[in-house]
Amino acid sequence: YNLLMVEPVELPTRIGILPFRNKVLLPGAIIRIQCTSPSSVKLVEEELWQREEKGLIGILPVRDAAEIMAAVTSVVTQGVDSGDKVSKNQSSESSKVDGKSQQEPLYWHTRGVAARALHLSRGVEKPSGRVTYIVVLEGLSRFSVQELNTRGTYPTARISPTDMTKSEMEQIEQDADYIALSRQFKLTATELITVLEQKQKTGGRTKVLLETVPVHKLADIFVASFEISFEEQLSMLDSVDVKVRLSKATELVDRHLQSIRVAEKITQKVEGQLSKSQKEYLLRQQMRAIKEELGDNDDEDDDVAALERKMQDAGLPPNIWKHAQRELRRLKKMQPQQPGYNSTRVYLELLADLPWQTTSEEVELDLKAAKERLDSDHYGLVKVKQRIIEYLAVRKLKPDARSPVLCFVGPPGVGKTSLASSIAAALGRKFIRISLGGVKDEADIRGHRRTYVGSMPGRLIDGLKKVAVCNPVMLLDEIDKTGSDVRGDPASALLEVLDPEQNQTFSDQCDKMGRGQDGYLNVPFDLSKVIFVATANRAQPIPPPLLDRMEVIELPGYTSEEKLKIAMRHLIPRVLNQHGLNSDFLQFPEAMVKLVIEQYTREAGVRNLERKLAALARAAAVAVAEQKHNGLPLNQPISSPLLESRISATGGGGEVEMEVIPMSVNNHEISNVYRIMSPLIVDEEMLEKVLGPPKYDDKEAAERVVTPGVSVGLVWTAFGGEVQFVEATATPGKGDLHLTGQLGDVIKESAQIALTWVRARASELNLAVAEESNLLEGRDVHIHFPAGAVPKDGPSAGVTLVTSLVSLFSRRRVRSDTAMTGEMTLRGLVLPVGGIKDKVLAAHRYGLKRVILPERNLKDLAEVPSAVLASLEILLAKRMEDVLEQAFEGGCPLKPHSKL
Ligand code: ADP
Repeated sequence: YNLLMVEPVELPTRIGILPFRNKVLLPGAIIRIQCTSPSSVKLVEEELWQREEKGLIGILPVRDAAEIMAAVTSVVTQGVDSGDKVSKNQSSESSKVDGKSQQEPLYWHTRGVAARALHLSRGVEKPSGRVTYIVVLEGLSRFSVQELNTRGTYPTARISPTDMTKSEMEQIEQDADYIALSRQFKLTATELITVLEQKQKTGGRTKVLLETVPVHKLADIFVASFEISFEEQLSMLDSVDVKVRLSKATELVDRHLQSIRVAEKITQKVEGQLSKSQKEYLLRQQMRAIKEELGDNDDEDDDVAALERKMQDAGLPPNIWKHAQRELRRLKKMQPQQPGYNSTRVYLELLADLPWQTTSEEVELDLKAAKERLDSDHYGLVKVKQRIIEYLAVRKLKPDARSPVLCFVGPPGVGKTSLASSIAAALGRKFIRISLGGVKDEADIRGHRRTYVGSMPGRLIDGLKKVAVCNPVMLLDEIDKTGSDVRGDPASALLEVLDPEQNQTFSDQCDKMGRGQDGYLNVPFDLSKVIFVATANRAQPIPPPLLDRMEVIELPGYTSEEKLKIAMRHLIPRVLNQHGLNSDFLQFPEAMVKLVIEQYTREAGVRNLERKLAALARAAAVAVAEQKHNGLPLNQPISSPLLESRISATGGGGEVEMEVIPMSVNNHEISNVYRIMSPLIVDEEMLEKVLGPPKYDDKEAAERVVTPGVSVGLVWTAFGGEVQFVEATATPGKGDLHLTGQLGDVIKESAQIALTWVRARASELNLAVAEESNLLEGRDVHIHFPAGAVPKDGPSAGVTLVTSLVSLFSRRRVRSDTAMTGEMTLRGLVLPVGGIKDKVLAAHRYGLKRVILPERNLKDLAEVPSAVLASLEILLAKRMEDVLEQAFEGGCPLKPHSKL
């Protein structure tokens, strides 16, 4: 049909007319209409359907008075919208040319377009049998109506063509105006096509039209391709003159182009607004990144800059400074939210915080002052203090000398820590205590790998950071409590720490151990300026290589007399001071302190004693504070719910006599308030109120040794010497030996030896009637060591075990005032044991009167304070029989003949 359009169409003079309500079909446009009214059905039937050759009908616009749209039509020009015009049009709604048109006045337009059917389909509506047609029509060329006949079944008209003839066309194509107009139109049309193609992203098919179709026809096609008003359509139809038509079409196409552009701009604007916020976000992100990169602005950046300055001032050794700078550069490139940022930061902070160069000013060591200081801080301990002075003297003479590491060994509360801090004070150095108790993991000393979550620098490095100098006195507390297991050997790390050769480059890196595990710090730190002092409860568990590097100084614990002195001279003043009191308000009579020592504590050291004294001071402080708070006359015993449980409210009456506080006294001035009150004096009643009933008394041993089978032993524990009871009972059974009380292998063997020895001497000891009879006939023996939760081991319970078995079988009670210790051989020899001083002190503390010791331990008694020795009867034993002789009232129950 492109050809048809190019070729002028022969129009008949008469034509059947299809009225087109409020619509115009332009030449080159295609419409799809449904014909249902009898007249239009008849028209299609007669003019198109029944014709052999292609028939033509005239489409004539009509307009009704009200301009009501009677039909909805889609007008599509071929090509402009899409190549497949028919199928596209089928989807649009069909025109209905029928209905009320008859009744209403119609205004027939005088120009129409002749159209041919591109497609026809006939349908019969089902129940009514009414015939309908769907017609696809193509507009071909304009005509003018000469005469309209509306009287038949459908309108017909006599028409004349308006299109130019071929020669007319050729003529006008030479016209300069026409040429200009066509160029203008083509430009605009091309522009429209370009815009549409961009929008729809369709190929350049429509552009072909521009080359092949005559421009005056293109004008119609283009105008028909977009929606314009009915009036405009009519005027386009009326533009018979091609020049007029071209200029009109150009105008309309251009207008359409502009409207598309405006629409586009609007959508762009909307889209632009949407992306604006997104863009802004992106820009902000970029800006932040840039700022961070520049080290500009922002708290975080300030922080990092501050960190850098701090690191510059930290005096890092050159190689470590290099390493730190590398890490710092890494940090700067990271986002604060990034994983690893924080750990790197914390790490760098640590590097900056560590005292690489900072030292405390080492004062000229004044040995006399140091001695005075040690004396004023510590009572007794003459030998220990002497050794410390020697140590300090060597340091003074040869500061670089490799002095040994002092290791104070003794039970808790004997002053190990405070001695170490006195050393620091004497040297004018800072003091830091590193607790090693329970350190099982090498990482605790070296630190965890930095990549671990929550990784921490090792305790040593951490301590150095806290103390902030590189030459402190560092106390390695409870060095005997480190153990080794699968996680590594803390002792080996400690060994490195204490080795003057190695500790210049102490690294928390484990490479020296060949384990390849990274430490936290990962760079070496020079520990050679640190003075190490160690403490331990016992020397025995310390790994020998470690012990080798240390000089052990033993602190065995105090006698009651020493404790009393320590309490009166050191503990009480300190405790009062700590509670904001002084002797004007609270007084501890010596007799009461003695009671606290004897009845409320039973330890080798003075730690619990200090606690008990503190409890008393607290109670007094509360009492004082209450009075002050009330600001009331208080000439009556303290009685407040708060104190009810602590301090006697009634008994004794005026124990806490108070004077009336004049209202004028400034209550904020404690000293004023205090001065008016008479001091609170600790008495037995207050002891009971505050500390509860006495825990220990001299009668304990007597009460426990009421039945045969119980004996009193002396053992050595981490807490110093202790009294250890041994209980044996017999039950019906098959001769088994049961042992309980968390016993180690050595002590179990001692029990076996004891039983064997007793059985072998059953008749000698008068335990069995007949020589051959079996002591265990029909019975089991059960031996228990009370305080079952405390693990016990060692051979020194041998004599005690035998004594309890002899007591059990002979049904004789042992003396409750006698304690014993000693290892026994299978043949009954008593061998010496360790810890004699501590054991004797323990017996003394328990108020025991007699102690049986192996004869060969006689020399150890030299260490025991003479006051203690004076209060005890020491009995030396060579053989088991000697022990038994002393253990029972009236001597050993041996048969007379065996003595012979
Ligand atoms: P340790 O380290 O041996 O467990 P501490 O050094 O912590 O014991 O001592 C516990 C308390 O007892 C401290 O307040 C300490 O001052 C005090 N103390 C221990 N022995 C003496 C002493 N001989 N003279 C004065 N005070 C002492």
